[in-house]
Amino acid sequence: MAGAQLLSADAAIVGCGPVGALLANLLGQAGLSVDIYDREREVHALPRAVHFDGEVMRIFQAAGLADRIAAATRPSPYGARYEDAAGRTLLIRRGTDGPGPQGWSGSWYFHQPVLEAILREGLARFPNVRVHLGHEVGSVDELEARYVVGCDGARSLVRHAIGGRQVDLGMHQPWLVVDLLCDPDSPRTRALPLHSLQFCDPARPMTLVNVNGRRRRWEIMLMPGDDPARLTDPGIFWPMIARWLGPADAEIERAAVYTFHSVVQEGWRRGRYLLAGDSCHQTPPFLGQGMCAGMRDAANLAWKLAAVLRDGAPDALLDTYESERRPHVTAFIELAVRLGAVIQATDPAVVAERDRRFANGTETFDFPQAQLGPGCRADTPPPVGTIFPQPRLADGRLMDEAIGQRFAIVGEAALLQHLRPDAVPLPDVGQAWLTQHGLRAALLRPDRYIFAVAA
Ligand SMILES: Cc1cc2nc3c(=O)[nH]c(=O)nc-3n(C[C@H](O)[C@H](O)[C@H](O)COP(=O)(O)OP(=O)(O)OC[C@H]3O[C@@H](n4cnc5c(N)ncnc54)[C@H](O)[C@@H]3O)c2cc1C
Repeated sequence: MAGAQLLSADAAIVGCGPVGALLANLLGQAGLSVDIYDREREVHALPRAVHFDGEVMRIFQAAGLADRIAAATRPSPYGARYEDAAGRTLLIRRGTDGPGPQGWSGSWYFHQPVLEAILREGLARFPNVRVHLGHEVGSVDELEARYVVGCDGARSLVRHAIGGRQVDLGMHQPWLVVDLLCDPDSPRTRALPLHSLQFCDPARPMTLVNVNGRRRRWEIMLMPGDDPARLTDPGIFWPMIARWLGPADAEIERAAVYTFHSVVQEGWRRGRYLLAGDSCHQTPPFLGQGMCAGMRDAANLAWKLAAVLRDGAPDALLDTYESERRPHVTAFIELAVRLGAVIQATDPAVVAERDRRFANGTETFDFPQAQLGPGCRADTPPPVGTIFPQPRLADGRLMDEAIGQRFAIVGEAALLQHLRPDAVPLPDVGQAWLTQHGLRAALLRPDRYIFAVAA
């Protein structure tokens, strides 16, 4: 083998944002050799994600980082409310009290730089992962690895190398995003809602999020005539949020103006090049799910790369990555766009139509429970292709701890021992779920999505 090949890694990851850093942890844990590059030395400092869901915490569990991340984030049972200017509740995203189906709370709030720092620190566990910070990848040709994964964000270099096209799902709107550090002793701080509030006021749509500690997030839609450069001037900013807080109650920690996009790439793979995260999809933040989708990409891709590079699975397995993930993330983006239309309505006729829709009362919803597209699974309706829940076993362990990161059959002990006499049955795994669905066994993939079921 030539020297250059000896030095080249199984996978090169371009971008050490949250998605690249998680993917590197998962591949490092699978024993693959990884080079990960980021042009910046420090994690991104501007305000971006504040929320992830229970499935993402389960992926952090798989990466061996759930305890550290749980200690630095805040589980929330409160969900989100969409209210009009008069305080009428239009929509509620239900919260979950206590551990949900994934074995963890369904919603977690966090400071993205802290989360990213934990993900980067996690890489130090793996001598097989080499981290190159302050290294801009100028051309994908310079990377010798067997596979190159572009986790390089919305302006992805790797996406350009792949080609393909971006499908526009119709929403592009500038918003001001501000993190405030609030005085905990201020009565006005204490009166702020505990849930996320989508304030659907046509005069000035806004989002308020209870992040953690003293930190509160305000997202404020830009209106015609706004000067983006001046929106955080004290004389402009504080009057916009005067019904909740003033300068005596809080200080601005950081702020940025973003245009929220809704796009999905067609073509997540060409040969040895692959994409994950914002490089192949962007979700408006009304569901708090953009980064979550990238984390699900990482979980889907990691076990397939390990299967191909370590266990001899055919390279064609990697073609199922886009076919499975693209319909799944599209379901989330489409819901975020529909919610965006509720919040962002400013035209009086559109607002009147919206109000008629909710005249009969509040509607409730949950995060989508989407099915993976066709790929590495039986070609049958849900629950195949959806994620299997993670019950806690009688001995106190969560299911994934007991069965590890591999294919697994869960079901009736007698049936399992018939199939595999050497199987070690875990009698109570998922039995309640199987009974509820009229099933006797389910075959789970390493990412815990259901490959097939047996009635
Ligand atoms: C206001 C706002 C609120 C949001 N809220 C939420 C939320 O609550 N929940 C949620 O799930 N999502 C949310 N999101 C989305 C979330 O922030 C993104 O989806 C997520 O940060 C994308 O992660 P990523 O790793 O794919 O890309 P990025 O975070 O963009 O990371 C890409 C990395 O690649 C590096 N890079 C790029 N090109 C190169 C190169 N050529 N060489 C080397 N390095 C390179 C960059 O320096 C960067 O570090 C929000 C976004 C915004 C803007």
